[in-house]
Amino acid sequence: MGRFSGKKVLVLGVANERSIAHSITTELVKEGATVALTYVNEAIEKRVRPIAEELGIKHVYQCDVQNEEHIDKLFAEIKDAWGSLDGMVHSIAFADREDLSRRFVETSRAGFQLALDVSAYSLVTLSKRAEKLMSEGGSIITLTYLGSQRVVKNYNVMGVAKAALEASVRYLAYELGEKGIRVNAVSAGPIKTLAASGIAGFKDMLSVFAEKAPLRRNTSLEDVAKASLFLLGHDASGVTGETMYVDCGFNTIGM
Ligand code: NAP
Repeated sequence: MGRFSGKKVLVLGVANERSIAHSITTELVKEGATVALTYVNEAIEKRVRPIAEELGIKHVYQCDVQNEEHIDKLFAEIKDAWGSLDGMVHSIAFADREDLSRRFVETSRAGFQLALDVSAYSLVTLSKRAEKLMSEGGSIITLTYLGSQRVVKNYNVMGVAKAALEASVRYLAYELGEKGIRVNAVSAGPIKTLAASGIAGFKDMLSVFAEKAPLRRNTSLEDVAKASLFLLGHDASGVTGETMYVDCGFNTIGM
């Protein structure tokens, strides 16, 4: 019997085997959870279906978080299949590549709205649907990054989106707490993934990080998955509204 036996968890944000959401899903499945995955469009579906098959996941649905109809349909399908939900993993972010390399002051209105919509608002609208299926309580987690609190070169509008995401976590935790639903964020150190490759100078970020972090290494996918399962599971029953750093201690360094 795994720690998550009998638990039903929706995971959004598996793009490939390097995705943070993939490592969380793998650990959840190992621990006995029943998992549902999503994909943005048909092109991505071709990548996500084989991953689901390999992990023995039967429930795979389309969901572009900018599309409210997709979100409604996703939760209707989950309700039909499972009736209820115990956990949700939000591992989604997007910004125009140009906005992650030019000066922040050059961010366009459209680029600002896009980054905030996909990377922060999506958690709010997904949580509204999840709340209805978490009648016995539940746990929601999202993924964030230190660029929300400090200036990180080229992180730009994504830093602003992550600040909004972390504030949303606190407001959601307050409101959904009445129903026994916990909401937390995992602030991961930089990891080489598809999304990270969009940030100019990401390679340099990794080498500086490994040199300066107290643990003198980069954050691994496994580090993030283990902390995510902690927050999703019963061991974190008294933890909500938090942003938990899983970054080998990098955030604690001043000089
Ligand atoms: P990833 O594998 O590229 O995952 C990002 C996911 O967001 C992809 O599955 C992507 O789908 C999805 N997405 C983008 N737009 C979407 C939309 N409109 N609707 C639904 N899904 C959409 O990269 P990752 O690094 O694992 O990122 C996961 C989360 O971790 C993000 O929130 C990221 O900011 C956060 N994070 C990453 C790092 C890092 O260094 N890697 C550090 C801290 C926090 P498609 O690719 O299929 O479009």
